[in-house]
Amino acid sequence: MFESLQDRLGSILNGLTGRGALSEADVSAALREVRRALLEADVALDVVRSFTEKVREKAVGTEILKSIKPGQMVVKIVHDELVDMLGSEGVPIDLNAPAPVVIMMVGLQGSGKTTTTGKIANRMKTRDKKKVLMASLDTRRPAAQEQLRQLGVQTGVDTLPIIAGQSPTDIAARAVQAAKLGGHDIVILDTAGRTHIDEPLMIEMAEIKRKSNPHEILLVADALTGQDAVNLARNFDERVGITGLVLTRMDGDGRGGAALSMRAVTGKPIKLIGVGEKMGELEEFHPRRVADRILG
Ligand code: GDP
Repeated sequence: MFESLQDRLGSILNGLTGRGALSEADVSAALREVRRALLEADVALDVVRSFTEKVREKAVGTEILKSIKPGQMVVKIVHDELVDMLGSEGVPIDLNAPAPVVIMMVGLQGSGKTTTTGKIANRMKTRDKKKVLMASLDTRRPAAQEQLRQLGVQTGVDTLPIIAGQSPTDIAARAVQAAKLGGHDIVILDTAGRTHIDEPLMIEMAEIKRKSNPHEILLVADALTGQDAVNLARNFDERVGITGLVLTRMDGDGRGGAALSMRAVTGKPIKLIGVGEKMGELEEFHPRRVADRILG
């Protein structure tokens, strides 16, 4: 395991006890360690830079107290700043719109989009007593459509019947229509992913958005995404316009730096996290816990 930031900063700063205020040089030495810790946690480089600058502004000139060690003091400044940047806790999916409320799920292939669609539908059905319709818009991969159908059977949530040969935008329009006729409160569109971001994907997402007028567009991303997180979040946000983020595989070994990267680039809230493969393994986002984990 990595040495904790607290230990690293302790060995750099704790000799300063009783010496007035933190100087530029003290803070620069500490920030080198902060930068290392964030990069080890997979926070994207651009975000690390802007983050450490904010911490520098807060830390330089801070009075060194007798009661807490300088290392701890800087860790606290870093931790508070991380929590601040990670954003609010428990931002719910907004259902405040005329039924059927359309939720569009976007993200790369393998990010956990279909699983998360099932999890969200399951939660809205069981906890919020909503009538939900799920629709797979992945016309290129019949296996993906079948996967969503099976999740529907497993959770008891309706899925839109598959009609071969329809385009994703036609399926989206049909899903909204079917939800209106079926008296559904919510329709969740599970869009197709790709292994990487490309122009046709972005065009398809924008067209689906235009056709279905979603109230929420949630970007699903693997928490283990490293330096690509910034690119991914920026592209989806600029080209499609997301309203929130869902991070999957938070049950894995990763330190979750992608949470900070994506939040910093888009300013959009992290609404939920995936913590396993099962339908119940969906949780609220707790910025403090993620900050602790990033710092190790
Ligand atoms: P999609 O291609 O984006 O629709 O991705 P899938 O929903 O098919 O998920 C890809 C794989 O990741 C599947 O094996 C899922 O069971 C798994 N998965 C999804 N979310 C999580 C999660 O939060 N934790 C873990 N451990 N696995 C997940």
